[in-house]
Parts: sequence; C-alpha cells; structure tokens
Amino acid sequence: MTMKTRDFAAICENEPAKERTAHAIRTSTLPHALLLCGLKGSGKHSFALQIAAAQNCENRNSENTAIPCGICSCCRRILSHNHPDVKTLGKTSGKATIGVGELRLFREDMFLSATEADSKIYIIEDAEDMTPQAQNALLKVLEEPPRGVYIFLLAESTDKILSTVRSRAQLLRMQPIPDAALGEWLKASVPEAKRMALASPDRFGSLIRFSEGRIGRAKELLDPKTLELREAENAVVSDLIEAMRTRAPYTELYRAVQSLPQKREPLCDALELLLIAVRDMIVCTRAEAGTLFFRDSEEAAAAAGRIGERRLGAISDAVSAALDDAGKYVMIPTLLADLTYRIAASGSNQIER
Ligand SMILES: [Zn+2]
Repeated sequence: MTMKTRDFAAICENEPAKERTAHAIRTSTLPHALLLCGLKGSGKHSFALQIAAAQNCENRNSENTAIPCGICSCCRRILSHNHPDVKTLGKTSGKATIGVGELRLFREDMFLSATEADSKIYIIEDAEDMTPQAQNALLKVLEEPPRGVYIFLLAESTDKILSTVRSRAQLLRMQPIPDAALGEWLKASVPEAKRMALASPDRFGSLIRFSEGRIGRAKELLDPKTLELREAENAVVSDLIEAMRTRAPYTELYRAVQSLPQKREPLCDALELLLIAVRDMIVCTRAEAGTLFFRDSEEAAAAAGRIGERRLGAISDAVSAALDDAGKYVMIPTLLADLTYRIAASGSNQIER
C-alpha cells in the first residue's frame, strides 16, 4: 500500500493529483494553467480552492507543514472566498455560455498587479461552456501568462474545450471515490455523517451508494430532504424493475410507470436512474462490470436473468425515447403512456384483453 500524502488533507482520495500538485507548489513549478476535470459533485471546486490556498500559503516552504496549512491568514481568506487575488468566473444565471465579453474583462484583470498575494488565481467554472470566441480570448493569456497569474479551468468533460486550450493546461482528472473510502472520509469530516452512520447504518449505506463516488453529491445527500427524494426515486425505479422482472400484469406495470414523478425535471432524473439500472443489467454479465444502481453485479444479474437480454435492449430504447421526449416538451401523460406501452410491447408484460 502506498503512503498517502498529508498535503491537501481536505480532499478525499485522488492521491496522484494531490501529490503531483503539492510537489509542483513546493518546488515553485505549478503550471500556469490547470484543467480540473470531473463530474458534477466530484470535488473539483474544493480542489481548485485548496490549490489556490496552497500556492499562496504562508507556510508552503516549511518542510513540517502540510499544505495548505489552513491556519495562516492567506489560507483562511482564500478558503472562505474572501481573498482579493482569487477570482472566480462562472455562467451568469440564466445563461448557457460564458461569452467573449465576460472573458475579456476577466483577462484585463489578469494584467493588473496582485493586491496582496504572490500569485493571482483565476478560477473559471463550467469552462466547457465558454464560447469558442471566449476560449480564443483566453488562449492569449495561456500562451503568455502574465507574471504570477494562474488559471484553473473547471469542466465536467474536455470535449467542448478547444484542443489549443487543452494542450496549454495540465489536466487533473477527479477520480471516482470507492464507497468504503467515501464513507470513512465523510464520517471523519462531517459530524452529521458520523451521526447518521451510527444511528442508521443502512441509510448511510444507501447514501454512499447514491453518491456514485462523488464527494459533493454525498454532501448534498446529507440533507435529509434530498436523501428522502433520492430514496423515493430509488423505490419507484425498483418497483418498475420488479414489475418487468416478475412479468406483472399490464395494470401493475401501468401503476408502476404512473408513480414516476409527474414534473419534468424530477421525471428526467428518475428516467436517467432507470436507464442506469437497465444498463447495469445489460453489462452485468461482462467481467469487471461495476454497477451504479444495483449493489453489485450479482444483484443486477439476478434481475436481468428474468427479463432477458433482448427485452432489456428494447426497454433501454424505450426509456431513452422517453428521456428524449421529456427534453422535447412532449406532454407528460402522453410520454408515460408511450413508455408503458413500449415496455409492455417489449414482451415482459402481458397486455390483458
Ligand atoms: Zn496557509
């Protein structure tokens, strides 16, 4: 087993990225541009802020101190979003993209000298939503970064980032956290998590599973209301799978589909979860297949066995079509009726005459 770095102790797992970044900071070789890539809730915001703090930490040259120290004035202000030299750019509410105008203002600021710290840090959230023009405007500073300026791009995926931008930033990919490590980390660092794990271990187990290896998602689910919603969603999807698995009569399948949320956004979430469950069942026979909805591949295989591979394919198509329809503003009752019909027609449920 490898030794864990003590730097970036606030970040769960992700040892290689933590080690590499800490080494770069201690040797004053932090790249001027980082691209932190990871799904929503995977911890890239926290890591960006931690790197910003470490880079400006008053104790970063001390051999005996982990970075960021978290107690010097720089660390404290950066970590509480109160430092004039750490700035964040994100999408303005209601907008789908970050435009070239916003980027130019941000860029102008980079050429002003730092207020207090040695390094000025610019964090760009949703970097994949920068328009190509905005990315080109950014490219100029990536090619010749002003002294002491560091740019952290945060993105869910690198697909929409221009290759010219990508090639000038060092990629740090947030890794999914194994369930056991996520549970331990939460219990050790969040008091509510520790309480829940003691009071209702089963519920805490579900929370960890629902988090899909993402620390931010796990923290959201510590809110009892959010967890209840997610539990309800899980129950609805489980009922639906049960109706398919047992080849329940059409009326029962109809009832199970009708228990899906009737509002568009939660409906999409539930359909996505159903799709994940169906995919689990489709891939569970392959070696090394991890599951996201089911506890493990045996559980997924047990459910899949009764439904059959061909029907699972048809069901997957039906759910994908329903998700598409939800995005196209098809009326929800129509969409649910279609979904029920297509699942039934896939052969798993008899239409009663
Ligand atoms: Zn510090």
